[in-house]
Amino acid sequence: MSELKIRRMSTADAGFDEALGKLLAWDAATDTQVSDSVRAILADVRVRGDRALLEYTERFDHLSAGSVNDLEVSAQRMAEALARITPAQRDALECAAQRIRLYHDKQVQASWQFEDEDGTVLGQQVGPVDRAGIYVPGGKAAYPSSVLMNVIPAKVAGVPEVIMVVPAPGGELNDLVLAAASIGGVDRIFTLGGAQAVAALAYGTETIPAVDKIVGPGNIYVATAKKEVFGVVGIDMVAGPSEILVICDGETPPDWIAMDLLSQAEHDEQAQSILLSPSAGFLDAVEESLMRLTPTLERSAIASQSIQDRAALIQVADLDEAARISNRIAPEHLEVSVDDPSALLPKLRHAGAIFLGRYTAEALGDYCAGPNHVLPTSGTARFSSPLGVYDFQKRSSLIGFTSVGASRMGKVASVLARGEGLTAHARSAEYRIIDDE
Ligand code: NAD
Repeated sequence: MSELKIRRMSTADAGFDEALGKLLAWDAATDTQVSDSVRAILADVRVRGDRALLEYTERFDHLSAGSVNDLEVSAQRMAEALARITPAQRDALECAAQRIRLYHDKQVQASWQFEDEDGTVLGQQVGPVDRAGIYVPGGKAAYPSSVLMNVIPAKVAGVPEVIMVVPAPGGELNDLVLAAASIGGVDRIFTLGGAQAVAALAYGTETIPAVDKIVGPGNIYVATAKKEVFGVVGIDMVAGPSEILVICDGETPPDWIAMDLLSQAEHDEQAQSILLSPSAGFLDAVEESLMRLTPTLERSAIASQSIQDRAALIQVADLDEAARISNRIAPEHLEVSVDDPSALLPKLRHAGAIFLGRYTAEALGDYCAGPNHVLPTSGTARFSSPLGVYDFQKRSSLIGFTSVGASRMGKVASVLARGEGLTAHARSAEYRIIDDE
């Protein structure tokens, strides 16, 4: 694909800041037609429940069923899927699941309490949500790795019931997706997709129980529906297109770096791949590798569109400057392909996941390293974090006064409550004041 055009930039260029801003701009402008139709679907499922679910499933997924019960995947179908996958696929899923579990076990937060000098007990009680819903996309492709990455943290958090929804266009379901659900410990699966599946999980229907939190990626209809139901239920995040930023000193084989950039580009036309390096010769070499390797991919059409529209090879003065630009971008995935990544690490403040050293390909993180691959995109790593056990845990504050403590703090509360004109608050606190204290 010699006509592939790859953007070259340098921080020394006049107008670099503005050009970088334009490159990063992601048009998340919601299509009003999509939001109107999503709102209509949500309202309809909320009112008509199962009947509406059946109609939308027939319309969008060409799957007709007599009742929503028929859309639940049976234990037998799950067992058949597990039996049909190859032993190598089963081993790979189990190995990935084990490593994801091991990593997420470390994230479990425990309840805590302390006692002050008056014997007052203060703390937090931490526990899982009652029921979680996992959306697994199934329209155009199947993502067994996403199943594991979403269900395992929920199960590690102790969520008693995890319900998965996945569209099955024309009744087709992917064996690897079902096998991953079984290995990950999903409790129930319904073949539902799009906004109607999100509505069912958020509001509940005659057959589908309402959940407390909905997680998982999906297309624009799914993302818009999740945004709309937020507040009725919790959601994980609204993900944009995937991104990778590579910082390289110029010493890693150029083909490795080119393939790392392409591993995001092949996800979707709007994915973004950026390389920062102080070496102009290395940028030339990676450009040549991209030209040569892109046409060899199964998804070369998607990858070349993404590289052409949204990729950039950027020359920086040095690695410190690369770190500053990386912080501005706050990428979803950040590869630090240098001799001593730990020296640069303290300077890297915003990224969903940081991959340290030349051997750490981002692709390993997608499948089996252990950390979650559901990560903040579009610069949101400035304020948010990877999906984790903490997303399925919630906290209640604990407060327990002794009579001495209630008396002392009652005096403080009384003053503040009277200042706010809240008489009942003041008197409620004053009743507990001990006169001779
Ligand atoms: P999907 O399951 O997200 O969407 C399929 C559903 O879309 C259908 O069931 C249907 O209900 C709905 N739909 C389609 N056309 C519609 C219309 N005109 N009106 C109303 N509803 C309509 O599957 P998909 O389409 O293959 O999309 C998968 C998405 O998930 C992709 O964008 C992919 O990039 C993303 N993804 C992201 C990650 C991640 O980690 N960020 C991982 C996997 C997949």
